[in-house]
Amino acid sequence: MSYVDEVYSMVVEKNPAQPEFHQAVKEVLESLRVVIEANEEAYRKDALLERLVTPERQLLFRVPWVDDKGQVQVNNGFRVQFNSAIGPYKGGLRLHPSVNLGIIKFLGFEQIFKNSLTGLPIGGGKGGSDFDPKGKSDREVMAFCQSFITELYKYIGADTDVPAGDIGTGAREIGYMFGQYKRIRGLYEGVLTGKGLSYGGSLARTEATGYGLLYLVEEMLKCNGKDIAGKTVAISGAGNVAIYATQKAQQLGAKVVTCSDSTGWIYDPEGIDVALLKEVKEVKRARLTEYAAARKSAEYHEGKGVWSVKCDIALPCATQNELNLEDAKILVANGCFAVAEGANMPTTMEATEYLQKNGILFCPGKASNAGGVATSALEMSQNSERLSWTFEEVDSKLKGIMVNIFHNLDEAAKKYGMEGNYVAGANIAGFLKVAEAMTAQGIV
Ligand code: NDP
Repeated sequence: MSYVDEVYSMVVEKNPAQPEFHQAVKEVLESLRVVIEANEEAYRKDALLERLVTPERQLLFRVPWVDDKGQVQVNNGFRVQFNSAIGPYKGGLRLHPSVNLGIIKFLGFEQIFKNSLTGLPIGGGKGGSDFDPKGKSDREVMAFCQSFITELYKYIGADTDVPAGDIGTGAREIGYMFGQYKRIRGLYEGVLTGKGLSYGGSLARTEATGYGLLYLVEEMLKCNGKDIAGKTVAISGAGNVAIYATQKAQQLGAKVVTCSDSTGWIYDPEGIDVALLKEVKEVKRARLTEYAAARKSAEYHEGKGVWSVKCDIALPCATQNELNLEDAKILVANGCFAVAEGANMPTTMEATEYLQKNGILFCPGKASNAGGVATSALEMSQNSERLSWTFEEVDSKLKGIMVNIFHNLDEAAKKYGMEGNYVAGANIAGFLKVAEAMTAQGIV
């Protein structure tokens, strides 16, 4: 059996009931096959792949808190510190009822390569809880966040592990967590990113993932002789990534006609009204039915359906495995020519293969949504030098990073004979830097 297949079998055997983690490892190892096989003896002797797929540290902890009725609730807390070869662990905290260890491990594993691709000195990690902030009062969210950090504070710090936001963890949650960390440690340091502007946050961090996605898409289209202006775009999700992806796509002259949340989706042939979407989701924290109620041109549909709309470009920005083979077939049949992932692993493996086989330009999330973590690393730099950069300064660095990421993965794909396969290019470019650092640092 080849080294890649051996390691994948080991991952499945040692990590039972973690399908998302298996999927992420399989996708990465498959595209690294040529690189590994070219250097198999050395990698095998150093157990490089075994070390790469095994987190350096996994923290599982109890998070007790008291609800508004005086009842004690208990959630599970997670932090997986996956790989610190190129810098302190860096990755978000997901608060969603679906969170379990396998999901955090898949996200942490992906984060290693994404962070490497940014060119910045950040290792890979991820965390979160099965706590659901939806429908909770601010006081309940604060009680949860304080309890969560009361355990996690022992393992994080500006030079060791710097968590950030993700699904369910926005500015409110980061604020409560930062306050509790500062109180316990007595330290004012950049231990979390995604902070508010009044206490160490970076301008453009809120917009970064969505804007970065569009900067990369713009470059990918340009290098393939196409232009984003005048194109119709389908976007899923209605959260942080989706909102700012919609805004930047519109600034670049495209028309975004869809958005979605966990209960339904909107088709708005006149183009999504971003100000209204922000009002419904960021201010009122309401359902998309409220968007439809306030806008004549919008149709609301229950359930899933964004990918059935005719579009040129599709940007999945909600959650994992939300674009499957059936969706991919509809997109191709409808003439879509580019798909770039705003969310983490939103496209199933079968759908990815189908899109690639049908000549669709396909960019994986670890490259196309790396603008968020890249700007988080810029927030860390600003905190370290105790300075704040202007919006334009951060935005222009973000754009430079995204353009650079695209060229790195494009060149890696070409170098290994897989021109146009940006999935392989991203995995290879991300892997090589981490592998070199791990090898240089010995068996740790
Ligand atoms: P948000 O919580 O702000 O928004 C998530 C959106 O997706 C919401 O509209 C939510 O619906 C919808 N959604 C969540 N889970 C499901 C589900 N199971 N089925 C259908 N819809 C769902 O999260 P973000 O926008 O921050 O994150 C979106 C994706 O992007 C995630 O995969 C995240 O890991 C990834 N990402 C985020 C980064 C960031 O900087 N924020 C950086 C890089 C990646 P509802 O409104 O009903 O909750």
